[in-house]
Amino acid sequence: MEIAVISGKGGTGKSSISAAFATLSEKVVLADCDVDAANLYIIFNPTHTEEEVFISGQKAVIDKDKCTNCGECINYCRFDAISEINGEVEIFETSCDGCQLCSRICPVSAITMVNEDKSRMFAGDFRNGKMVYGRLSPGEENSGRLVNIVRDKAKNIAKENDLQTIIIDGPPGIGCPVISTITGVDYVVIVTEPTLSGLHDLKRTMEVTSNFKIKTSVIINKFDLNTEMADTIESYCIENNVSVIGKIPFDPQIVEAMVNCKSIIEFAPNSEVAKLIKESYKLITLNS
Ligand code: SF4
Ligand code: SF4
Repeated sequence: MEIAVISGKGGTGKSSISAAFATLSEKVVLADCDVDAANLYIIFNPTHTEEEVFISGQKAVIDKDKCTNCGECINYCRFDAISEINGEVEIFETSCDGCQLCSRICPVSAITMVNEDKSRMFAGDFRNGKMVYGRLSPGEENSGRLVNIVRDKAKNIAKENDLQTIIIDGPPGIGCPVISTITGVDYVVIVTEPTLSGLHDLKRTMEVTSNFKIKTSVIINKFDLNTEMADTIESYCIENNVSVIGKIPFDPQIVEAMVNCKSIIEFAPNSEVAKLIKESYKLITLNS
């Protein structure tokens, strides 16, 4: 069973909930697909038995010895990634889209394309099973492709080790990496918070999971910070036949747990918050 935990926006407490779920089962595969900001490895400190280079794309590089400063490449680059600075033609790595056009039109073949190879996929063991995660290097692209690699790896590990549950910590938003995260999973949990933007983003996220026809439920985190908005969110979910499987109150222990590199289940197992998350997880396993 693959369970993806996502949120329409960052900062809802999605990763804290994923970490809690990952420590509720004795043996799971935990896949951190929030590849732009993977952080569960900090909490769980997994061993790295595997490390794979992820080629996220290509960037253009100028050989200054060959370049005649003719300026042709500047005229052709549609991404404004090339400029002349102090009489020398320079490529700005962060603006380069890797389209290869400049390398093709350069009359003296001074531009070559090089692989962007700073991103990684890691796999290893953590205290509740196996863990896989991707780390996209700053400025590198194709996060959706890295998410697919992490998910494929998690599935293979689950099969090889006869592990039945994969918990996926997804990225925030509704973009390509989120689609890659939820495609084909058995269950999606959307974590939201009781704010206007939380409701707005929840609506967009629910639309996506509804389009993909995936079993979906919602956890309203920190619901007691705005009970009126929490009620509005709950009503919206009911109207759209989506269950609210948990209303978690604000509890500073969740942050304390993270600071201590533990999930709330490990840090304060008898706390009200831990009990509520356990109940939510039980509902997921019963419904999926
Ligand atoms: S087209 Fe080639 S030679 Fe001309 S400025 Fe660009 S890199 Fe230099
Ligand atoms: S590869 Fe494309 S985007 Fe990058 S510098 Fe060359 S023309 Fe511009």
